[in-house]
Amino acid sequence: MALALLVVDVQRDFTEGGALGVEGGAQVAQDITDYLRAHPGRYDLVIASRDWHDGKTDNGGHFSDQPDFVDSWPVHCVAKTNGAKFHPALDQDLFDYEVRKGWGKPDYSAFQGETEDGMSLLDVLRTREIDDIDVVGIATDHCVKASALSALSLGLHTRVILPLTAAVSPDTVHEALAEVEDAGGEILTEVPGAN
Ligand SMILES: [Zn+2]
Repeated sequence: MALALLVVDVQRDFTEGGALGVEGGAQVAQDITDYLRAHPGRYDLVIASRDWHDGKTDNGGHFSDQPDFVDSWPVHCVAKTNGAKFHPALDQDLFDYEVRKGWGKPDYSAFQGETEDGMSLLDVLRTREIDDIDVVGIATDHCVKASALSALSLGLHTRVILPLTAAVSPDTVHEALAEVEDAGGEILTEVPGAN
């Protein structure tokens, strides 16, 4: 049994002061770094995703001047801008791979992304025969949820480590967690300790 950690979209634009800043995002960045440093060797693979949009188009209706915050959003995470960078408290040296998603289209799941070399996230997981995956990051009720549901649909044993996520809204996070559980996922309400 091999275990991976997926760190979803811990980027400046999704943390306090960013274009779509989520309350608690900066703390999550620091907590994920601390968690990984405290448990070296726990994960066979650590993969980070980034939302990575085309600044010249509306990315398939994903960007809007009048966003509904359901299917359309203010401009965020445009490739190579400051907002698309990882939050500075997140230690990138802890990652084995990075996948980018959302070029010209709305991608919520990290499984829609690929590495710079064109590997899908599933290809990456297959390099180490991963069958278990823990999902953390931002936002719990959007891209973390979508990524966890993708993992479950691919047959991976999937856990969301809730204290290492930050959500847009308390209402939608409740529904999101229920959806993940209904699909067979596990929600950890505490960060897993020593084992
Ligand atoms: Zn986006």
